[in-house]
Amino acid sequence: MIKTTSKNDKINCPVCGNPVDLYDVCVVCNWENTGETNIDGGPNKMTLKEAIHAYIHGLPVD
Ligand SMILES: [Zn+2]
Repeated sequence: MIKTTSKNDKINCPVCGNPVDLYDVCVVCNWENTGETNIDGGPNKMTLKEAIHAYIHGLPVD
C-alpha cells in the first residue's frame, strides 16, 4: 500500500469537536483552528478556554 497524505486533513475542533480543516474556521462554533496546538491568541480573539465556555453556554465564539 502506498501511504498518501491528504492536503485536507481534518482535525476535531477543540471547542465543539466538529471535524474541521486545519487552519479553517469551524462552521459549528466559529473557532478558527490554528493547527495541532490550537494555542490561545492568534486569529481568535477569545482564548480556547473562553471559547469552550461560550460554546457550552450558547454564546458566540469570536
Ligand atoms: Zn467548533
